[in-house]
Amino acid sequence: MNQKVSGLYKEVFSNPTERKAKRTEIEFRVDVDGMRPLNVISGDIYSNSDGNRKYLSSFIFKGIKRITTLTNEIRLEGKKGRFSPNSEYFADIQITIPNNSHSQKATFQWTNKSGSESKCLCKYVSEYFRIINLEHDYEQGVAPLEPYETTDSLSSCPHKSHPISIITAFAEAGIEIRIVKEKKNSVSNPKRISEVGSVWTQSELHEAMIKHFTLFREKPQWNLWLLSANEYAMSNIYGITLDYKEKKRRGCAVFQSATGWKSKEEKRMRLFIYVHELGHCLNLHHPEQKPQIDPVAKAEGHSTLSWMNLPWLYYLSKESHGPEAFWKAFNFQFSDLELMHLRHGFRNDVIFGGNEF
Ligand SMILES: [Zn+2]
Repeated sequence: MNQKVSGLYKEVFSNPTERKAKRTEIEFRVDVDGMRPLNVISGDIYSNSDGNRKYLSSFIFKGIKRITTLTNEIRLEGKKGRFSPNSEYFADIQITIPNNSHSQKATFQWTNKSGSESKCLCKYVSEYFRIINLEHDYEQGVAPLEPYETTDSLSSCPHKSHPISIITAFAEAGIEIRIVKEKKNSVSNPKRISEVGSVWTQSELHEAMIKHFTLFREKPQWNLWLLSANEYAMSNIYGITLDYKEKKRRGCAVFQSATGWKSKEEKRMRLFIYVHELGHCLNLHHPEQKPQIDPVAKAEGHSTLSWMNLPWLYYLSKESHGPEAFWKAFNFQFSDLELMHLRHGFRNDVIFGGNEF
């Protein structure tokens, strides 16, 4: 039997005394099978010595070796991991999972730098590597965000035959988006009036976030705020990420006057910008890779087919570039490098309000 083992695991304790005595707590992500596996185990270590959980460190082991043992267990082995902050909690890791679809347990074993071995018991908690809570507010009068139907005549995407939403786009990357609030017409129109009507400024967006983001806390967190808005003060802005004081990436807004929302093309672009901005919130950049073979390639063009590229910047070759070529080839997914960051990036590089872009 080829049991799927990828997903999120968390350390379990038999009682509070054991938890207290342990002083640290591990959670880890196994990514060796399922959708677009990267053959990686990553995780985070927390301290719980004073009763409240505090983040200590993240780790990543690449090139995981998978063995089925004589007793029919699945054994995953990783060597020479990387840690952040740059401390080495352990050298090699070994994860053992009983080959039994009803079993939810895994043993996480590691070799300390001194050579001694330790282990802990963990349980499978989700098929997703990370879980995000999203609060979604709408400015008054703004159209609901609809999933994009790839079966539309527009679509030339042969690999997908279902409606794509922000939830499915991230689910395919292994990230669960839980919409904890979705409210139409919950945010009043901005006060700033231009010749086209009321438009958002950075400071008004910031005020709206503070007012409507009920799960907001100053410290880094997995909660995010999303505003479906009408128009930004600079009308060519499609979407924007929102900061709080020096803490970046706490929320984002997408502007329907720029993306459009009526035609099939506009619906596709609108969804694209939502996924793109949420990607920025998770600290993804635009792809930096530039075409090097074609001497006439535009300096800013890039050939990556990803949510994080922009259709009008797409440049594969002199013959194939721009939005039309992009949409023809785009498979509505993140690149492998982006998947690596979303699933296994060190916690503070990914979490909202964490490290700088
Ligand atoms: Zn962008």
